[in-house]
Parts: sequence; C-alpha cells; structure tokens
Amino acid sequence: MYDLAVLGGGIVGCFSALRAAELGLKTVLIDERGVFGGASARSAGVFTVQLDSPLDVELTAKSIELVKTYIAGTAWQETGFLQIGKEHALRESMESLGKCGIKYEVLNNEEIMDRWPEFVVEPELIGVYTHPDLSVEPKILGRELRALLIERGVNLIEGVRATKLEISSREAKAVALSDSSRIAANYFILATGPWTREILHNSQIEVETFLLTCFAYRLDLGRELNIPSFSDEYLHTYWRPWGTTLVGGRYDAEFAESPDLSDSQPPSKSLRLALKFLLRRLKTPSPPVLVEYMRGPCTFTNDGMPIFGSIPHLVNAFIIDGLGGYGLMRGPALGYLTVDAIVLNHELDKYSAYSPVRVFR
Ligand SMILES: Cc1cc2nc3c(=O)[nH]c(=O)nc-3n(C[C@H](O)[C@H](O)[C@H](O)COP(=O)(O)OP(=O)(O)OC[C@H]3O[C@@H](n4cnc5c(N)ncnc54)[C@H](O)[C@@H]3O)c2cc1C
Repeated sequence: MYDLAVLGGGIVGCFSALRAAELGLKTVLIDERGVFGGASARSAGVFTVQLDSPLDVELTAKSIELVKTYIAGTAWQETGFLQIGKEHALRESMESLGKCGIKYEVLNNEEIMDRWPEFVVEPELIGVYTHPDLSVEPKILGRELRALLIERGVNLIEGVRATKLEISSREAKAVALSDSSRIAANYFILATGPWTREILHNSQIEVETFLLTCFAYRLDLGRELNIPSFSDEYLHTYWRPWGTTLVGGRYDAEFAESPDLSDSQPPSKSLRLALKFLLRRLKTPSPPVLVEYMRGPCTFTNDGMPIFGSIPHLVNAFIIDGLGGYGLMRGPALGYLTVDAIVLNHELDKYSAYSPVRVFR
C-alpha cells in the first residue's frame, strides 16, 4: 500500500512525486511510456514569467525556482525573456508582473536593437524584458528528473498503463493497470495530461476538455546569438536560444480527437510561416536550417484555465490538467503545490478559478 500513487510521469507527475518523496511519502509513479513519454518531452522548453494572469506569473516564478533548485544546469540556461509587441498588447502581463513584485524593463525599439543588435524592431513596437526566465531542454530535464526520482526512492512503474480508478464510498481505493495488477494508495494524483479524460471516463467520471496538437521547431543558425528568449506578440511567434539553435515556432495548432504522439512532420505551412516571421524579426548569420521538429498533444479547457485541485466527489484524488501550451512552465509548481496540499494541508483556495468543479459533468 502506497501513501501516494502518481499517474503520469510528465513534468507535473515528476514534480509531484519528487515533492512527495521529499516529504517522506511512500510514492509510486506509473507511466505507460516511461518518464517524459508524453507532451513534456516534445515541448519547446520556454519558461517565462511574462503571462497575463498573476496566478500564472506566480506559478511560473515558483517553477523556475524549483527547476533551479532540483535540476543541474545542463538542462537549463537563464536567458531572460523579451516580449515584443504593441504597448496595449503587453499591458496585461506588465500589470501582472507588477502585482507579483517581479521587476521588468520596458524598452523602445531602438533600445532593444542597441542592446541586442540581431533584433529588427519596428518603431511602433516595444519590448518588456524580465531576467529570471529560462531556456530549458526538455529531454535533458526528463532524464535528470527520472534519475532524481530513483535516487529519492520513488518506485517507478514504466511501460504499464493505468486504466481506471477503483472507487467506492467517494474514495479512490486503487488504480487498475493494463497488466491486470492493481495498486492501492491513500492518495492519487492524475497527472496524465492529455490522457486524463480517458482514465476518468473508464472510471465513470466525465470531464470537459479538448485537445490540440501543437508544433515546434529547432533551427540551427550556424553560430550562437547573444539574445534572450523572446516572444513576438505582433507576429505570433516565440523562440528560445540554445547553443547555435533556436527552438520555438508560431502560436498555431490543430484540433485533435485523441492525443497525437505521431512523429510525422507538422504541416509545411506552419514551418514556412514560423521561418518567415522569424526572419522579419531577427538578422541571422546564415539561413536557419531545420534540425528537429516536435509535435505533441496539449489539453485545453473552454475558459483557457488549468484544472487544479481535488476531483469532485472524491476525497483523495487530485487532477492537474488543462495546461495548454504553457504546461512545462507551470507544471513543476502545480505538482509541488498539490502534494503540499495533501501532506501539509496547504489551502488551494487561492486557485479557485482553476477549480475542477467547473469542468466536471
Ligand atoms: C510542440 C509543443 C511545444 C510546447 N512548448 C511549451 C513551452 O515552450 N513552454 C511550456 O510551458 N509548455 C509548452 N508546451 C506544453 C507542455 O508541453 C505541456 O503543457 C506539458 O508538457 C503538460 O505536462 P503534463 O505532465 O501534464 O503531461 P505529459 O507531459 O503529457 O505527461 C503525461 C504522462 O502520462 C503518461 N500517460 C498517459 N496515459 C497514461 C496512462 N493511462 N497510464 C500511465 N501513464 C500514462 C504519458 O506517457 C506521459 O508521460 C508545448 C507543447 C507542445 C506539444
């Protein structure tokens, strides 16, 4: 019998299990494909505090602190983040930074180009620059997290699927696995991201979410550029530097009926536009060469907010999902806070806007 069973070993599940082990819980983590077998490994790896809601700013700031504390510097670099756009489009995120006490600089187009001569910025645009933001290599992060979980005594069960929760008297008693075994625990965290609604459906619980397939690219520029990670709210693109490469793309995605983990190339138009808009914003030493593309599933809610808290009508099961295209940067904090709520009785009232109640039928 475990204290805690974590279903899913993406960014959310890993940080949940890590925190649980740290607090002395006997913890098992189950992942059908192995740690980082889902969206997390396919993410672009941008961590920025420049988000519109103060709650999200705080969550990402906490995630950055957690990544820096637990993960060796081979998986991340502190690049800072420059958000480029028209002043009115950046106002909400500046207000949120202000509310959270996070320092930022506002730069006009000439100041941006003086500081980072590679940028080309039209006079009507400004930039908001923050310092603590990270460029993260998701696959290295996944390997480091897996090693850390083993080192901390978390029991990893990989290659086996969680099929459903066994529920009686408003309590999850066990999780049934695809090898016909079952794992009993006092608490459960559903961190299976885009696959969560299927597990819940099998458990006779319906949740209202939808899936998009997102795309990202790694382009080799031939030499390192001295620029921060950046997003371009004017041209709808985002990028982070890593060595001689830039990783990112456009804010585009396709609706999907089921989680898409195929390795097929994203639509050619998506890459073409990402390149076109990048070259409008940046002077590159040589034409960028595509070296890797990523495609993966992201769960969204109708109101665009995460699902975070206990599953309605179950006293001991928690869900963290609906993280859209910003789950890598919010996931560590959400996993960590969930375990603190279970073990240390920390209140989650502050996150009532993310309450699961609104998406369960
Ligand atoms: C192309 C792309 C770019 C992105 N870029 C960014 C970015 O720059 N910054 C950012 O913050 N976010 C980004 N995201 C979003 C981010 O990747 C996700 O929001 C985040 O990874 C979700 O994490 P998770 O732990 O909830 O889910 P996942 O990482 O998908 O983890 C779920 C895990 O559960 C396992 N699993 C599934 N079903 C079962 C089952 N039945 N039993 C057991 N295990 C199961 C899976 O194998 C998987 O390992 C991007 C996503 C994509 C696709």
